[in-house]
Amino acid sequence: MNDAKVIQKFKDTGALLEGHFLLSSGLHSSVYLQCAIAFQNTKDAVEFGGAIAAHFKQDSIDTVASPAIGGLVIGYEVARQLGVRFIWTERESGSMTLRRGFTVREGERVLVVEDVITTGGSTRDTIEALRSAGADVIAAASIIDRSDGQADVGVPRFSLATLRVPALSPEECAACQRGDVAIKPGSRSLTSGAQR
Ligand code: ZN
Repeated sequence: MNDAKVIQKFKDTGALLEGHFLLSSGLHSSVYLQCAIAFQNTKDAVEFGGAIAAHFKQDSIDTVASPAIGGLVIGYEVARQLGVRFIWTERESGSMTLRRGFTVREGERVLVVEDVITTGGSTRDTIEALRSAGADVIAAASIIDRSDGQADVGVPRFSLATLRVPALSPEECAACQRGDVAIKPGSRSLTSGAQR
């Protein structure tokens, strides 16, 4: 699965919206990703998961771990196709932790999988939680990298596709200069089928 095919699949399913968006950071962007939309079709999730699993087939991965909620579907699918265990981390009072009785053994080889890497924050926090529990985090993976390769998570990183779309302040935003009003993704005024 190459870069263009992944992006095309996101566009076809309505998971990649193009327009003039207000991100939760307050910045404006011409692209918004709704990953859950891309996983509605289970066959697509199998394809994305298979492409990531294929990349790590030779790495003797013991376990795949993902930050909830965004990483759950793709992480589970990668683990299933590698034939290994799947666990997840979640935030408890702000800090990423292993809950629900999940444990790792000393030196367990773990691959961290997320849907989209933006700043890499969730992946970094997940790696930290796993290391504190004794795991050996081998690498991190995501379907889409929207950091343009810049996010540093401290371990080798792999993404199926890289999205090069800047997030700009309203003052720098060309669409705003033209007088367009930015849309907040997820708002009901956006009548795309992707919103349902
Ligand atoms: Zn704007």
